[in-house]
Amino acid sequence: MIDNLLISDDVVERKFVCDLSKCKGACCEEGDAGAPLESEEPDIILEMYEKIKPYLTKAAIAEIEKKGKYVYNREFGWVTPTLGNDKEICVYGKRDERGIIKCAFEQAYYDGVISWKKPISCHLYPIIIEKSKKGSFDRMNYEPRTKACKPACVQGEKLQVLVYEFLKEPLIRKFGQEFYNALEQAAGLSINPDERRKIAS
Ligand code: SF4
Repeated sequence: MIDNLLISDDVVERKFVCDLSKCKGACCEEGDAGAPLESEEPDIILEMYEKIKPYLTKAAIAEIEKKGKYVYNREFGWVTPTLGNDKEICVYGKRDERGIIKCAFEQAYYDGVISWKKPISCHLYPIIIEKSKKGSFDRMNYEPRTKACKPACVQGEKLQVLVYEFLKEPLIRKFGQEFYNALEQAAGLSINPDERRKIAS
């Protein structure tokens, strides 16, 4: 437990490194809904939309004009819209020539067009933050996709990278450096990653 967050052991014990060449960015499609948005993110999307429009497909632009730039989901609150029904790709995703789904926000961010990378829920996945329903504490869980994320688990083992290490950037973005330091300490891993790799090999 750090601050008001109950953290699953999996976050500090399991290993994970996304392998996009194998999964093709499957977490951007076929979910229960689009990407969940934090309370301030719908406004950020409105602000960024015209700048990221050139990164979208024609079908996505048409869908956004029909549904809106974000939609309300009973279970998840505000989420990004998806093409067609809820089983399809996020409207802000686009396949590249290798068939990998790329996020329009992230592409625009890397091109220096916008300063916001993407919704924090996408950035943190496969870590999921479950908000407390009764005001007690929030939960941080590790919930990779069973099939699509399997290569990432294999790659994580191979490279000896723990879930929280792989997600250092979004964890600091969301909770701050102090939280990350506390998480690192709580993990009991004073040993640096290079040393651990040596031991494991
Ligand atoms: S979280 Fe899973 S599905 Fe998404 S990019 Fe990483 S490995 Fe692929």
